[in-house]
Amino acid sequence: MAHFIVLLGPPGAGKGTQAKAISEALQIPHVSSGDIFREHLSKQTELGKLADGYIKCGQLVPDDVTIRMIGDRLKQPDCVNGALLDGFPRTLPQAEALDDFLAKMGASVNTVISLEVPAEVLVERLSGRWSCPTCGRVYHEKYNPPQQARICDNDGTPLIQRPDDQAETVRQRIEVYRSQTEPLIEYYRQKGVLVRVDGTQSIEAVKQEILTVLAGVQ
Ligand code: ADP
Ligand code: AMP
Ligand code: ZN
Repeated sequence: MAHFIVLLGPPGAGKGTQAKAISEALQIPHVSSGDIFREHLSKQTELGKLADGYIKCGQLVPDDVTIRMIGDRLKQPDCVNGALLDGFPRTLPQAEALDDFLAKMGASVNTVISLEVPAEVLVERLSGRWSCPTCGRVYHEKYNPPQQARICDNDGTPLIQRPDDQAETVRQRIEVYRSQTEPLIEYYRQKGVLVRVDGTQSIEAVKQEILTVLAGVQ
């Protein structure tokens, strides 16, 4: 059976940090809408330039463009056994489009992990976040530092800070999450696939809790 897992949670909740272990445990690809937009931006594609206008000010990229992009990604052969969705869906129309898309494949969203973290913690997490532009690995200068300051453990690339992680944009992104994405918690609760996880625990404790949950629902 295919496993389509959604990681839901505000910016900075720890979705990207947890994604690697989940995707390895379930042998499904990690599909991050934010990473795909940033890849387009680094290649200066039309989609990348369009998305950048929204990302810079902490707004969502329009649904039609985002839905098409994720639909194309999920059609790739590596998603036949499922995918771990990180950052998608973020609106009700996106969630409905995902349901329609998966229904056509004879699949559905199996589990939604809602990583819950209060706003004041998110700002501190995002202001200390450093990521690797080569492999996408995510660090925190205090909570998850690389072995050598600002250098990726995995490939030695100098780490970068995301322009949208500055405090003012973060506040906007949290607000957008509250108004547009949080309603998805109720949407998935009603479908009986929601699991809430306390994302303020240590990275390791959150990982263990998620892996235990997923082992139980397989
Ligand atoms: P998201 O993908 O949900 O936006 P990230 O996984 O990028 O969030 O995490 C945001 C920042 O918080 C990163 O710097 C990461 O190292 C750090 N972080 C993630 N999970 C935890 C945790 N459980 N405790 C402390 N810091 C964390
Ligand atoms: P993330 O990497 O998930 O924090 O996403 C970074 C930015 O990309 C967001 O603030 C949005 O501007 C955009 N983005 C990512 N995923 C989506 C989505 N599902 N819908 C709309 N915009 C998105
Ligand atoms: Zn790296």
